[in-house]
Amino acid sequence: MKPCLFIVALCTFLPSLPAHGWSEPHLAITRAAVAVLPQWQRDFLGAEAVRLGDDYCLIPDHVFTDKENAKFAAMESKPGEVYLTGLHLPAQQPENLETLRYFMSRAVAAVSERKAGDAARYMGTVCHMLEDFGSPAHTVPGDNMFTLLQQFLPASEGMKDQLMHGPIESGEISVDIKGWQPALLGVTVEEAAWRLLHRVHEGIINARGTTIPIIQALYADDREAVVRHQLRAATLDAKIVADAFHTILCLGMRKFDAGGRKALDTVPIGSFWPLEAENLCFPQKQFFSSPYWGHPRSGVMLERGKKAVPIVLRVEQQPGVIVEKTFADGISAGMGRPLTYLLPAGVFRRFTVFGGLHPRLGAKGRVEFTVTGDGRTLATAVVAGNEPAHSFDCDVSAVARLQLALTPRGLDSKSNYAAWAAPLLVK
Ligand SMILES: [Zn+2]
Repeated sequence: MKPCLFIVALCTFLPSLPAHGWSEPHLAITRAAVAVLPQWQRDFLGAEAVRLGDDYCLIPDHVFTDKENAKFAAMESKPGEVYLTGLHLPAQQPENLETLRYFMSRAVAAVSERKAGDAARYMGTVCHMLEDFGSPAHTVPGDNMFTLLQQFLPASEGMKDQLMHGPIESGEISVDIKGWQPALLGVTVEEAAWRLLHRVHEGIINARGTTIPIIQALYADDREAVVRHQLRAATLDAKIVADAFHTILCLGMRKFDAGGRKALDTVPIGSFWPLEAENLCFPQKQFFSSPYWGHPRSGVMLERGKKAVPIVLRVEQQPGVIVEKTFADGISAGMGRPLTYLLPAGVFRRFTVFGGLHPRLGAKGRVEFTVTGDGRTLATAVVAGNEPAHSFDCDVSAVARLQLALTPRGLDSKSNYAAWAAPLLVK
């Protein structure tokens, strides 16, 4: 305990290095995450746990000045790229997944070789990426300095000549996630990186909800409100970082508790973002026109494109017994716009889902439901509005991209209220 306190004391007197991204908040978020790790994990890291929160979480920002540690933020597949943009700004899902997978695997390898210093440095790179992606200042794709957003939100007199990136995310915040129990994200790096990617999506969406309130608070010179909204982003980021750290250390030590493992056996994917939602929103080119003009919805169906109603399908409870069932997890979508999901290699064996039409809204419709894996049809079924939903059970053990597609097979296209209900990946 004493050496750690000494290092903390020493570091408070060191001049802070210039940093981009969350900057000071990087330290606060990382320290909060480290603080909730189980004792055996903090014991493994030892004094490196302190350096992780004081220093290593900024490695990707310091690659030009901290030459010694720059290699911990470099990828073998990108030789010569010293500053990896993908560690600071979200790219598309496949690239984000590969970056997470790469740095997690390096961190896990270092843990398994019992090299705490190397492990903590790679963990610093992983957490920097998670924290930057979940930063309120990294939320508008292609507009990292908010020159476009400021045209929508004209600045106050006091702020009008400033670049907004720094003020939106900087400042002294203290983050505390006491009581958070870090979750195991996988028992292999493939699985863990894939689950982490979906956790990161939650972080990005959460951070997006803080950006405009922070800008408005900055214009109003309301410091308390700035911090309050920054904390909403930073708190979730710290939980995601804690999950990532916890998982890396479990994987490296091959130490998993049975409960954590069991929770990973199935994954509902109805709330996951498909690849078509580039930047986690649906571009207009992905909109469908039948049964209404719009985009897919998670957890609800949209009556006439306006009114959200629960996903209800007729299902065959037992042979000959058909009941109407409401599903909390599901995706309602239109015709002709497939939805594609990345799957981690060698993790899941099966994909199960119900495909059917809403009993009332879709009574006169008829739709073909098709599940494909890497372009190959895994299963297909035509379901009419007066029939029960089809229950799919597909082998996805060798599938990298799972696709769900809907094709109209009836006369009344306005009645094709179709949903994929309870979509579940099973180990
Ligand atoms: Zn950064």
